[in-house]
Amino acid sequence: MFTRKYSIIFLSLIFPVAILSIMFLLLSAIFESEPHNDNEELQLTEPVENVYGFVDDSLIHKSGVVNKNETLSDILDPFSIENSNVAEIAQISKEIFDVRKIRPGKFYHIYLAKDSLRSLQYFVYEKDPIHFVLYDFCDTVDVRTGEKEVTIVKDYKSAEINSSLYVALLENDATIELAVRLSKIFAWQIDFYRLQKGDKFKVIYEKRYIDNELVGIGKILGAYFYSYKKDYYAIPFVQDDVYQYFDENGNSLRKEFLKTPIEFARITSRYSSRRYHPVLKTYRPHTGIDYGAPTGTPIRTVGDGKVVAAAYTRSNGRYVKIRHNSVYTTMYLHMSRIGKGIKRGVVVKQGQIIGYVGSTGLATGPHLHFNFLLNGRPVDPLKIEIPPSHPVKKELRDEYDIQKKLVMDELQQMDMYIIEEQRPPA
Ligand SMILES: [Zn+2]
Repeated sequence: MFTRKYSIIFLSLIFPVAILSIMFLLLSAIFESEPHNDNEELQLTEPVENVYGFVDDSLIHKSGVVNKNETLSDILDPFSIENSNVAEIAQISKEIFDVRKIRPGKFYHIYLAKDSLRSLQYFVYEKDPIHFVLYDFCDTVDVRTGEKEVTIVKDYKSAEINSSLYVALLENDATIELAVRLSKIFAWQIDFYRLQKGDKFKVIYEKRYIDNELVGIGKILGAYFYSYKKDYYAIPFVQDDVYQYFDENGNSLRKEFLKTPIEFARITSRYSSRRYHPVLKTYRPHTGIDYGAPTGTPIRTVGDGKVVAAAYTRSNGRYVKIRHNSVYTTMYLHMSRIGKGIKRGVVVKQGQIIGYVGSTGLATGPHLHFNFLLNGRPVDPLKIEIPPSHPVKKELRDEYDIQKKLVMDELQQMDMYIIEEQRPPA
């Protein structure tokens, strides 16, 4: 069924493209065959600027991808540049963009004059799908940065989950990014690794387009989950200058983590991508934070959760790993001893003592190595975005209720046939 659906989509896409291409070829053949027509009257419409902000109608456009070890000089060498050279361009560019930062895999565009010299008129380097650096050679060399115009389109998705949220979204032509965003919003309410067959969701969100191409997801404008026979809402609302999500009662969907796992701790080593390891005597990333403290200092879990490991390894020493929800996990290493009753499967409350500082495993002295994992990958605990988790303030309550009604009405109006069908008649 999917194959047929996709082949129909494929054909319906291919046919217009094919027809347009043929028409384009025919038209360009007609225009090419005519001698240069300088008749001004032919120009009926006003020239339109491209996404980079200049008119390219009369230019030859070539696109490319930066190859490994390719420099600006390598890219521009084949083209004739009037009034300048690459060294000068690099110098002029310095303040705005360091040309040594040109990276393999990035897109670039070359625009040449249609004259006999085919001289270079514009060079565009795309830093990412939105931001670019524009080198304008038309007059004297001019370098500037810019942003492409992003079009925001509101979209709706609703589906029943058969295996996972990812699969359900992909089957509905949504992206992984949307799944990741939703799982973060509901991280404390729903365990995305234990969804049940028959769980459902609805989401209203923004899609970001540049030049008719999807470049990502904007805001989540509202979401609903039905999991284990319970309803969960995510209503966006700005409080304390933060765009955050609340439930239907105005409670924050998030729970805060404690700032540190040890009271009065001193950071002795920060998170870094490259650090000299005092024991291994090599450079390796330090994917956590070290807190220096005397042996025996109590270690607290920074959030509610379930102990998934309380064990010993050669490098970790005695350690405890706590899963807070389907997004966040923390690890506490080099303990002298593990807290009383702390073992795999035990549920812990925020602030509960789970062990004591020590120097077991690969450690030169007593300290706690604290790891914060987001979707299984280490992140810098000091940089993790932890917006406030207060409920909607009393003085904002009326404003919130209006916003809530708008979002909930819109969610209600969405295609809910799946849920209606399965509910027993009243
Ligand atoms: Zn460490």
